[in-house]
Amino acid sequence: MTAPSERDWVAALAALDEATEVGLLCHVGPDGDALGSMLGLGAALRARGTKVVASFGTASPEEPFAVPAAYSFLPALDLLVPPEQFPADPKLLVTFDTGSADRLGSLADRLETAPQSLVVDHHTTNTRYGTLNLVDDTAAATAVVVAGLLDRLGLEITAEVAAPLYTGLVTDTGSFKYAATTPAVHELAARLLATGIRHDLISRAIWDTASLGYVRLLGEVCARTELDPAAAGGLGLVWTSVLAEDLDRHGLALSDVEGVIDVVRTAQEAEVAVVFKQEPGTGALRVSTRSKGAIDMGAVCVSLGGGGHRFAAGYTSYEDVATTLDQLRAALGTAPHLPA
Ligand code: 5GP
Ligand code: MN
Repeated sequence: MTAPSERDWVAALAALDEATEVGLLCHVGPDGDALGSMLGLGAALRARGTKVVASFGTASPEEPFAVPAAYSFLPALDLLVPPEQFPADPKLLVTFDTGSADRLGSLADRLETAPQSLVVDHHTTNTRYGTLNLVDDTAAATAVVVAGLLDRLGLEITAEVAAPLYTGLVTDTGSFKYAATTPAVHELAARLLATGIRHDLISRAIWDTASLGYVRLLGEVCARTELDPAAAGGLGLVWTSVLAEDLDRHGLALSDVEGVIDVVRTAQEAEVAVVFKQEPGTGALRVSTRSKGAIDMGAVCVSLGGGGHRFAAGYTSYEDVATTLDQLRAALGTAPHLPA
């Protein structure tokens, strides 16, 4: 585990201090921490008078640009522009929660045209692709790194800043359940709540709101979950798939089915849980993987072209489900077994 050095902090703070104009980006198919950390810093910089524009790319030309419905409550969404309106060469480009350049999708080219780029992230697998990098893999969420930036910059955490940061914190800690939830995480949560944000409404929007179509799809895809007890050197694998036709039948977008893995991974018969999610249009498979800690899924997914963390990681496959499953089984078969 590595936290940023003092030099990394100084360089990042100098770049943000001097910037009168910043372009902010997060990864394709953004989650709560990607959007929350980006909009939290964006709202704080805008409040101090910086010109801010934010966006995220798409994974393919077929994919529409849309904020996932679960995050439509976020303040400061007006900072977002569609990818085609994102400036070619913002003076300072800042990326959030994005472990590698390819995860910027259609906006990855901005790394080449922007004169300076700052990578703000907490992925162990981060490739440090910025001219400046602030990567803390001991942080529970990228939102924690952003809170550190705001404090060092002396910028106030208002409710408009706190709601997105809390969203990042609560999503990446699984509502303060995961191992990365330290006393400092709870202290940060307390500071954010003290601004008056409605954490109950935030949690309801993220986890306790879905369409009836989603409830039905969840039943179907969970019912066809399969178990291979011999996979991962005998630790076991459970998997299911959400195909484009399933999404279509229930009127859902790919971003609506992020939570399926959280149900599948509760099966105690297997160490590793996987959901194959098929992109409408391209047919590519977004592979969500989780372990209970004995397998480093971040390392496994890096070997398959993706990345992530020990307990949660992912990648994209351009093969069919059967071939993708074979490749994954092979990678799991040689993965070392870690102590608890
Ligand atoms: P999820 O399964 O929730 O989409 O992703 C789990 C974790 O793996 C997140 O931290 C996410 O950023 C990371 N991840 C998912 N897909 C990819 C990928 O294709 N490449 C990389 N580098 N990380 C990914
Ligand atoms: Mn994150």
